[in-house]
Amino acid sequence: MKDETATHFLEDQINLLLQERFNIHSLYPFQRLVIQRIVEEDSEESNHEGSVVVLPTGGGKSLCFMLPSLLVEGITVLVYPLLSLMHDQIRRLKEVSIPYICIQGGQSHQERNLLLEKLKTKEARILVTNAECLCLPALINTLAQITISLLVLDEAHTIISWGEGFRPALATVGPIIQHLPVRQVLCFTATADERVLQGLNRLIFPITRPHLIHASSNRTNITYHVIRTLSKNQSIAGLLRQENLLPALVFCSTRKLTETSAHSLLYALPDVSVRYYHAGLTKDERRYLEKWFNDTKNGVLFATKAFGMGIDVKGIRCVIHHDLSEDVLSFLQESGRAGRDGKPALSISLLDGREKPSPLASILQSTEHCFRKGLLEAMNEPFEYCSGCDVCNGSISLKRQGERAILMSVLSHPFHFSPSSLASMLQDTNGWYSYGGTLSSWGMQEVQEAIMLLITEGKLHMLKRPKRRLYIDYKAVATLLTTMHSWLRLKYESAKKKAEENRPQLPYHASSIPPDQGDSNLQDSAG
Ligand SMILES: [Zn+2]
Repeated sequence: MKDETATHFLEDQINLLLQERFNIHSLYPFQRLVIQRIVEEDSEESNHEGSVVVLPTGGGKSLCFMLPSLLVEGITVLVYPLLSLMHDQIRRLKEVSIPYICIQGGQSHQERNLLLEKLKTKEARILVTNAECLCLPALINTLAQITISLLVLDEAHTIISWGEGFRPALATVGPIIQHLPVRQVLCFTATADERVLQGLNRLIFPITRPHLIHASSNRTNITYHVIRTLSKNQSIAGLLRQENLLPALVFCSTRKLTETSAHSLLYALPDVSVRYYHAGLTKDERRYLEKWFNDTKNGVLFATKAFGMGIDVKGIRCVIHHDLSEDVLSFLQESGRAGRDGKPALSISLLDGREKPSPLASILQSTEHCFRKGLLEAMNEPFEYCSGCDVCNGSISLKRQGERAILMSVLSHPFHFSPSSLASMLQDTNGWYSYGGTLSSWGMQEVQEAIMLLITEGKLHMLKRPKRRLYIDYKAVATLLTTMHSWLRLKYESAKKKAEENRPQLPYHASSIPPDQGDSNLQDSAG
């Protein structure tokens, strides 16, 4: 067993470097795991079997070796398959002022000798190079004389896929490493199928089996939830009325949306503290907001993706995606901002039917396939079980709040309402219409937006100006009746599934979100 004091000391060292050198306030669990392991293994006595670290692209990989390079005794050698990757890494090293040298093609003897001298004198902590240069006798001679704590093979799958083809130098890396005094060999790769793993065992680790670290994007304390909506602002207000979803982070696709949505929420829930955050704000403003959000117990922050990975707020209970993220990785990273304290948290995506087709959209639009399974498979990660999503919880809902009230009102009174008179009627609790006042908790603008969306979708029609009266054509009536039928069928199937599984309810479950007044009436009328 490891000495506990030593572990704490190491943790402190890592935290200090993280904040002072890298200006990052926390690590992902797998980053901490990898970094801690690397530093702990850095002694002459350890058996140095090496590690294969499987990490999705963009998952915070370079920190996993940059930070240890400052804590281990010897130097760190980084081997890249591509010049562009070498230069990317050099840029990162410069940003955090880690002394390095780069051995690459096109350098003169004299130039290289001067650089290699810096390795001998420990003036450089890191050597960045490629497989071809690693074969140079001058470099091998120098490396043989110094302590190499870490030898990192980045994008290690290329050793297998290219090394046995057009880049034979990649395949010679293994034998060279075995003749060098390397304490730990680390292979980083985004893909770890059997072929790659067996290939790495054969070429890089022929004697000992490496330690396999698979960094998963799966966050079991996060439940994935989707809400179909006619008004995103209305849905956000409806959700955030529940205090157990606060503090909440709402990701928007544009700066303007963070501002307009924040104002709309403030109007709906004046007691909740609401702020917005984007790259257009000054550095000081952003710092202030980061601190505010870190300290708030019940605040809501509307942010663009500028609310970056380096910012760590532990107790976010819910991340709402006002708009769908760019891709699955961004979605998982954004969702992953929730529940970093390990307690249950929600990732909620709002869909208004205007989503562009994408792999992420089709995962979240599914009513049959587990969201988590889809997300992990898209990342080429293994899926074991789902700890909570709408599909597995039987809480899929195709119902959009307010839709039935709007459509049924128009159906009962064709050519009677204009968009604004319909919106007023749905908000007026004193009227005599059967759906009068059912959307009284909505803002006027939100009801009108919902009506316009239904017109865009072709579910509602409107006479041309100046009349602007709303009506539903006979095809839409049929669709409306079919939709009502499917709502009921889905409700029945979901109840049946739940009863069959008889599993305990998760703390954050769709049914805990109270339907608005309007729709509870509608459910009754439909039943
Ligand atoms: Zn699931």
